Amino acid sequence: MRLTVIGCAGSFPGPDSPASCYLIEYDGFRLVLDLGNGALGVLQRHVALTDIDAVVLSHLHADHCLDLCGLYVAQRYHPEGPREPIPVWGPNGTAQRMARAYDLAEEPGMSGQFDFRDLVAGEHRIGPFHVTAARVNHPVEAYGLRVEAGGHAVVYSGDTAECPALIELARGADVAVFEASCLESQPAPGVHLTARQAAQHAQDAGAGMLVLTHLVAWNDPQATLVEARPAFEGEIVLAASGLVIDMA
Ligand SMILES: [Zn+2]
Ligand SMILES: [Zn+2]
Repeated sequence: MRLTVIGCAGSFPGPDSPASCYLIEYDGFRLVLDLGNGALGVLQRHVALTDIDAVVLSHLHADHCLDLCGLYVAQRYHPEGPREPIPVWGPNGTAQRMARAYDLAEEPGMSGQFDFRDLVAGEHRIGPFHVTAARVNHPVEAYGLRVEAGGHAVVYSGDTAECPALIELARGADVAVFEASCLESQPAPGVHLTARQAAQHAQDAGAGMLVLTHLVAWNDPQATLVEARPAFEGEIVLAASGLVIDMA
């Protein structure tokens, strides 16, 4: 299983990264987690737009879903002809939200391009992946996602504040990709994690490796790393656009 960080900028694109987007590949299947603003450009360095097999949206904040609008154009108007709809898993109302985002009529919206499926807490089969979704602590319906294949597990927090369900979801995972939007000096209770909280969640889950992500442009990433380090015993890395982690 291969994880590629496409976008890891928190809340809006930064100078070095799009907003949230991750590519997970296994056995030739290409799963995209989140399509935040700016992500569709960088994504094409790693996968042709016609080769994306499924998309999962953790929640419907702009920095996690808006580039589905660009993929809609690619699906609909590709010179080789329209592509068959691909599955897009998202919270209740995703189809309507994305139709509004593109200023389409809600019917048919993007239903000719995407097969919208309700993401709910629990287990889902997506291609070769076993995906477990858990509600996390954010002001809108939002999910953390555990993606498993080939005996390995990656857990992506999406956007969350402190959340016992995230610890359960990430139990024993190879890689925890946890948001670390805040520093201790400027926390956002009920919305986002601080770097230290992210590290403590990964430690409590017994994750093998921690990738700190959703890095907001106005924070110093080195300060994020310094605050996280004491709370996690394993390897910690800062997410970066283009970072590849192979699990084999
Ligand atoms: Zn976000
Ligand atoms: Zn959010």
